[in-house]
Parts: sequence; C-alpha cells; structure tokens
Amino acid sequence: MEPKSRALFLDRDGVINEDRHYPYKPEHIEFRPGIFDLCRCAVAKGYKLIVVTNQAGVAKGKFTEEDVRALHVWMRERFADESIAITAFYYCPFHKNGTVPAYIKDSDCRKPRPGMLLQAAEEHNIDLARSLMVGDKNSDRIEIDGLKCVILRSEYVREGYDVESLDEVVKMLK
Ligand SMILES: [Mg+2]
Repeated sequence: MEPKSRALFLDRDGVINEDRHYPYKPEHIEFRPGIFDLCRCAVAKGYKLIVVTNQAGVAKGKFTEEDVRALHVWMRERFADESIAITAFYYCPFHKNGTVPAYIKDSDCRKPRPGMLLQAAEEHNIDLARSLMVGDKNSDRIEIDGLKCVILRSEYVREGYDVESLDEVVKMLK
C-alpha cells in the first residue's frame, strides 16, 4: 500500500477567499493575500490540498448545491491557472436550523465535527496526525485528536487566534 500523504486542509470562506456574506458566485470571490503562495509551498512539500467548507447557505435557501459545485469547478480552474492542483473539495450543505427541508440536519460533516476530514482521509489516503487544518473560525478547530488546527485572526476570532496571516502558516509546514 502507498504510504499515507499529509494534507493541508483549507476552510474556504475567510481562508481561500474573503468572507463576504454567503459568497456563492465567481464574482463574489476575492482571493485572500498569500493563499496561492501557501498552497504552492504546501504542494512542494508533499501536502495534498483539500478544501473543507461548511455551506449552510444551502440549508438556509440562499443558494443551491449546484451553485456550490459550480463555484468549486471555477475555483479549481483559478488555482490551476496558478499551477496549483487542488486534490478535492468537500462541503457540508446541512444545518439543524435550515429552512430547506432536505437539508435540515445536525450533520456529522458540519465542522467542528470531523466527518468531512475523515471522509477525505479515507478517500485520499491521508495521515491526519501529520496534516494541518487552516480556518478562520473556532468551528475550524476540528474534533480530531492529533490533527493540528491553525486559526487565523478574523472578524470571528479576535482573541485566541494562532496566526495573523497566511504567510505565517507557510512557516508551519514541515
Ligand atoms: Mg471560514
């Protein structure tokens, strides 16, 4: 069996792109300073890039799963333009207080629960204990023992954050 890879798990809104209110179209996306450099550096060190994003806007009727998937296709292309390959995107469309019946659920995939990362680890042969998760909310501190989580300073986390910028995350890649 192939040896397991490390992954750089990236929250999307607030890490890859600026977190404007429920972004779901390419015109809503402004990439954050340093994201492409961080990803390039991670890939060079052997990390797989995996996006893990809560998208409760689906459960709240603000946009659809098709919108989320189309945005991820577009985003993958923008990274490819920068010569960066994203291994996979995972999103959780559910919320326990949703308004769209099909998506009202207290889901194990919604961060900080570990569902998306466990699925990614299984599907992409990832060693979670050697991987890194980067987020901008306390819910990005994933409930997995041994997984290192790094929280950016943000409008949601003004105290107790780990780093001020994505540039600092580069230095944490082993
Ligand atoms: Mg976020």
